[in-house]
Amino acid sequence: MTNTLAQQPGNPAASLAQSTPAPAAPALSVVIPVYNEEAGLAQLFARLYPSLDALGISYEIVFVNDGSRDRSAAILREQFARRPEVTRVVLFNANAGQHLAILAGFEYCRGERIITLDADLQNPPEEIGNLLTAMDAGSDYVGTIRRARQDSAWRRYASRAMNRLREKITSIKMTDQGCMMRAYSRPIIDAINQCREVNTFIPALAYTFAGNPTEIEIAHEERAAGTTKYSLYRLIRLNFDLVTGFSVLPLQVFSLVGFVVSGMSLVFVLILAWRRIFVGPEAEGVFTLFGIAFFLIGLALMGIGLLGEYVGRIYQQVRSRPRYVVQAVLEQSGRAPAAPRVTESR
Ligand code: UDP
Ligand code: MG
Repeated sequence: MTNTLAQQPGNPAASLAQSTPAPAAPALSVVIPVYNEEAGLAQLFARLYPSLDALGISYEIVFVNDGSRDRSAAILREQFARRPEVTRVVLFNANAGQHLAILAGFEYCRGERIITLDADLQNPPEEIGNLLTAMDAGSDYVGTIRRARQDSAWRRYASRAMNRLREKITSIKMTDQGCMMRAYSRPIIDAINQCREVNTFIPALAYTFAGNPTEIEIAHEERAAGTTKYSLYRLIRLNFDLVTGFSVLPLQVFSLVGFVVSGMSLVFVLILAWRRIFVGPEAEGVFTLFGIAFFLIGLALMGIGLLGEYVGRIYQQVRSRPRYVVQAVLEQSGRAPAAPRVTESR
């Protein structure tokens, strides 16, 4: 058992690990992002491991600790010590966000099939078998629909609205975009691993690579412990990622609106000029004019903001800073990847 500090060049543990031939890839990798989940992890282990053992296939679980500030990392270390043959733990230095944590899990996992799961037990581990069955039927990507979603009413309502918007502006077809419990085949994960996106929305990204996607209904439970890690602000940002990452339609709609409004303004100016010449000067209706002016200013500000969202993302992308910094990878020696894992440097 080696605590592989894989990113440190010349680290003896890492080179030792590389010299041992890697065993065959497991049939299944389960990738789980963990951020301040100390209260619920024990329960997760107690349900996850037995349900995977019961499947009777080779598997690994890749936990990605997303810079938790509670005891999550220590608990994951303990669990690694308990089940090292099927557990791998990627520890981030700082919080990078759920989607980047999952992307890191994708880079480190080696399974033929990959399932993502939340750490809070909202996605029951007992459903894993059902996802695999759907894959056996020939799908390379299995999405999920939450039966009786257990979240607050406003989140359910907002999600429905976002779903409708996404359907209109992208070609992505998902009944329930928010559920992260999904199954992916290896080729899709390889394609995702080639993407270098800083802001992304993994289920949508995977969908664009899927040849035969399907959806199944799964149960959804209330959070086992702790509270949601998504504030309203983070939820809004995530949805902007979804919209800007997969469509430029908002920009196009905006420029079309701009054309229409400036056309109408031209007509308005011509009418005013005609009245000035043939009717004479007039100062009435000044507040109507204010109203129109404020509306147009609001429209322009919205457009600038929208542009800013795209430009900001382009800026983050071109700076090409590391998307996340891996502090350590806990894995059994001989299970290390063939090539040395260098700290993300793109
Ligand atoms: N998560 C993460 N990094 C973050 C926020 C969340 O890794 O910055 C993880 C979290 O630990 C959980 C999953 O992502 O395993 C989903 O988060 P949460 O349950 O808070 O979201 P919700 O279910 O409320 O949408
Ligand atoms: Mg949750």
